[in-house]
Amino acid sequence: MTSYHSDEFDGVPTDAAADLAGVPDAFQRLWTPHRLVYIQHGQQPDEHACPFCRAPQLSDEQSLIVARGEHAYVLLNLYPYNSGHLLVCPYRHIATYDEATADEVAEIGELTQVAMRTVKEVSRCDGFNIGMNQGRIAGAGIAEHLHQHIVPRWALDSNFFPIIAGTKALPRLLGEVREEIAEAWPR
Ligand SMILES: [Zn+2]
Repeated sequence: MTSYHSDEFDGVPTDAAADLAGVPDAFQRLWTPHRLVYIQHGQQPDEHACPFCRAPQLSDEQSLIVARGEHAYVLLNLYPYNSGHLLVCPYRHIATYDEATADEVAEIGELTQVAMRTVKEVSRCDGFNIGMNQGRIAGAGIAEHLHQHIVPRWALDSNFFPIIAGTKALPRLLGEVREEIAEAWPR
């Protein structure tokens, strides 16, 4: 009889963490080697070239913004892990969460909650990954400007992720997804 460890991922048995070296945590790993290009590519932008400083100066459609607050705004990630992958950014060009003011922290939190409710309503997702990568060593693609990821998850999404990430149709889909979320966003 085949004996399995108790952990499974999409029906595939995995080794129990206790059998391996390392520090167990609650995070699910998204192994995305193709993103290394994005992470390793070139220098970090300064304030003048920063895409998160530039986005609010463009139209919502051009910059894929779904909502603008007083201190922070919400836009679709150009490099989504999943359809509806949103980023919450302060307008200020700050690198890490501890540099944010109380007002910025409060609004990033509020916008994150509204984003979750809105994405849940339009996409019926089963869960979310939410978090901030602080610094390049932690995997931040644009480490100079703080941004919180909101990644909707569906029960079977990991099976489709490489297909979704590789598709050439993404720019058009991103525009459609932006419109759908922006229309459902409570004003
Ligand atoms: Zn910036």
